[in-house]
Amino acid sequence: MRPRVPAHFVGVLGWPLGHTLSPAIHNAAFRQLGMNWIYLAWPVRSEALGEAVRGLRALGAMGANVTMPHKEAVVDLLDQLSGDAQAVGAVNTIQQLGSRLIGHNTDVDGFREFLVADAGVDLAERGALVLGAGGAARAIVRAVDGLGVREIVIAARRPDKGEPLVELATPGRALVCSWEEVGKRAEAADLVVNATPLGMRGEDPLPATRFKAGQVVVDLIYEPPSTVLIERARAAGADVWGGLGMLVHQAAASFRIWTGREPPIETMSAAAVHAVSGEAHRRS
Ligand code: NAP
Repeated sequence: MRPRVPAHFVGVLGWPLGHTLSPAIHNAAFRQLGMNWIYLAWPVRSEALGEAVRGLRALGAMGANVTMPHKEAVVDLLDQLSGDAQAVGAVNTIQQLGSRLIGHNTDVDGFREFLVADAGVDLAERGALVLGAGGAARAIVRAVDGLGVREIVIAARRPDKGEPLVELATPGRALVCSWEEVGKRAEAADLVVNATPLGMRGEDPLPATRFKAGQVVVDLIYEPPSTVLIERARAAGADVWGGLGMLVHQAAASFRIWTGREPPIETMSAAAVHAVSGEAHRRS
């Protein structure tokens, strides 16, 4: 039997790409829905990003994901940006419509859908603390602002880097706190989101904080699947979530944009869990 040639293709542009879970998540979804699509990994260095994006047009890709370190640099290579991509200043999803390349940021909807659908959090009139002021933190601020939160505190080790994030929220709703006061802010917050890499190597971003029941703590790190922050907050009775939920929901939002179809979230989630445990196994 001749091999089935995929009718449509998408992929991820980033450097390095060794650890990406996206091909496993999307290809599982295509298989589940019987779609003749394929998702590829394209390791592309910064100096080749322009050529790679031109290649998407020339080869007729349906689109692409964009990951570190290209999320901001790719903005100037596209024809149009969605509202979230424009606000956040970063693109994680490219859609090819005719000959036009449109940039989206599905981290915003991905976090929102994770928080509402998976975590079941109602943020109305509640307070959120976001650790970090990078690309993920920008998406989180935009996402929680759209959920009616009362206050968003942004903790940046360099407060000048936090200030631009205040502009992403409704006027008067967000403020920056110093890294010194972050422990107390965390104890007062209803939702705490770690959007820094602190925890990937066993660090605790909030070593002095005492968590309590009723708080929701989200660590965007998904490798390792659990962190010291998650374990400590869980032991104190808080509701805790790792980063896989957001990862799956941002992938689902990209899938919707490219295919126009409803993504099989449970299949995507199972593929992500399987890929992470395989990665952990390879490293052990
Ligand atoms: P980024 O743009 O590099 O931003 C990282 C932020 O963390 C910056 O504000 C940085 O501060 C701060 N930071 C780094 N080291 C720190 C330290 N030792 N103490 C205090 N602050 C520190 O990275 P990103 O794309 O936002 O990603 C952040 C984390 O989120 C990563 O772990 C990433 O894997 C995760 N993430 C997860 C998802 C998901 O779907 N689950 C999606 C996106 C990102 P400076 O600016 O001062 O360096």
